[in-house]
Amino acid sequence: MDLHSGLPYWIVKNELFNYYNPLKTNLKIEVVIIGSGITGALVAHELCKAGINCAVIDKRTISTGSTAASTAQLQYEIDVPLCEMKDKVGENLASRAYQASLESIKDIQKVLKESKVDADFKNVSSIWLASYKKDLKLLEKEFEIRTKHGLPVSFLNNLELAKQHKIEAPGALKNKEAAQMDCYAAATGLLQFHLKKKELELFSHTEIMKWKELGSGYELLTESGHTIRCKYVVIAAGFEAGQFLPKNVMKLLSTYALVSNPVDQKDLWPERSLIWETKEPYFYMRTTSDNRMMIGGEDEDFQNPVKRDDLLREKIKKLEKQFYKIYPDIPFEVDMAWCGTFSSTEDGLPYIGTWPGKKRMFFALGYGGNGITFSMIAAQIIANELSGKKDERAEIFGFERSN
Ligand SMILES: Cc1cc2nc3c(=O)[nH]c(=O)nc-3n(C[C@H](O)[C@H](O)[C@H](O)COP(=O)(O)OP(=O)(O)OC[C@H]3O[C@@H](n4cnc5c(N)ncnc54)[C@H](O)[C@@H]3O)c2cc1C
Repeated sequence: MDLHSGLPYWIVKNELFNYYNPLKTNLKIEVVIIGSGITGALVAHELCKAGINCAVIDKRTISTGSTAASTAQLQYEIDVPLCEMKDKVGENLASRAYQASLESIKDIQKVLKESKVDADFKNVSSIWLASYKKDLKLLEKEFEIRTKHGLPVSFLNNLELAKQHKIEAPGALKNKEAAQMDCYAAATGLLQFHLKKKELELFSHTEIMKWKELGSGYELLTESGHTIRCKYVVIAAGFEAGQFLPKNVMKLLSTYALVSNPVDQKDLWPERSLIWETKEPYFYMRTTSDNRMMIGGEDEDFQNPVKRDDLLREKIKKLEKQFYKIYPDIPFEVDMAWCGTFSSTEDGLPYIGTWPGKKRMFFALGYGGNGITFSMIAAQIIANELSGKKDERAEIFGFERSN
């Protein structure tokens, strides 16, 4: 699958983790993690911390799948607002999903700190704008239910929004719990941290083609004909995980992102908030550590990479126009643009855990706009399960919830 095209900023900003190590022999190990993106890296981190012997296998250059294209905004708000999610999965499960999402932002920060990875992690506020007056009703309902469940949120009317954030819009929900980071630096940094400590085996350019369930685990077959025997497999294969699933659980989409040239720090908007809107197609914006503005959205309901790439120029113009509607006086000169595959699930929640009846294959599928925070939750749930600890969050994100 062609996960992204164009020029994702992170691949240019960071030095490439130039690691070439295809598997050239058969291997026996306790846990194999398929995928070296942010999900695989976080799973590896949690397993190494728990003293579990593991290897990460990737068919590409390390962490160059969706992770390299991510705009990496970390928000506790999930694609489906809590006031709507409660009708899909029940209020209890929905509010617990939101709480777990909130906690995961702090956990990502902790993981980066304990492994001394500099991934430009920065706490920022999050502003969810009502694009139209009619959307205020949704924000009011959402404000009410989030307040009821003790989630951090405040309501800004149009005057407060103009005064505090210099935005002309009917109103917004705000919280100060969001963050942003460089996802590629985080993933490659974590993997290198554990490689250096000799706690992890890492194989690039090694594709898993087939797998066979054995009584005591799995036997995986690589494209070069080598076998890997393990007790457990963790599928952290991102939007390409469909090949390991008995049934399709997500819808693949296309999304677009661009980054501006750096501007003077004083020209950036107040608090450098993450800003996103109620309207469809989706629009969002953030800043980077070198004072660029990164904006994205304009999702399309298909995954075909040729069709997706054909629209890139048109989407750049549309995204720029959306930006100027919010901040007409900030100069935005496009420097790099890219597009990528994205996905969503019916209830807005990821899939984490084993497929019913297959107890040794764990899925860590952080589908949706909160892919990274979901990756953190998946890593903890899987590490807990493999260490024999019960994790109450497993039932929120498990496959059983939709069966
Ligand atoms: C433009 C864009 C903006 C985004 N913005 C945000 C955001 O603001 N906030 C957020 O939380 N999320 C965001 N996301 C989503 C987020 O980036 C993803 O959820 C996350 O990067 C997925 O990480 P991953 O490790 O699961 O997948 P990937 O990074 O794709 O890694 C999976 C790896 O598995 C490997 N693989 C697959 N199949 C096999 C196989 N058979 N054998 C060996 N290896 C295999 C692939 O080569 C790949 O490297 C965005 C995504 C895009 C594209």
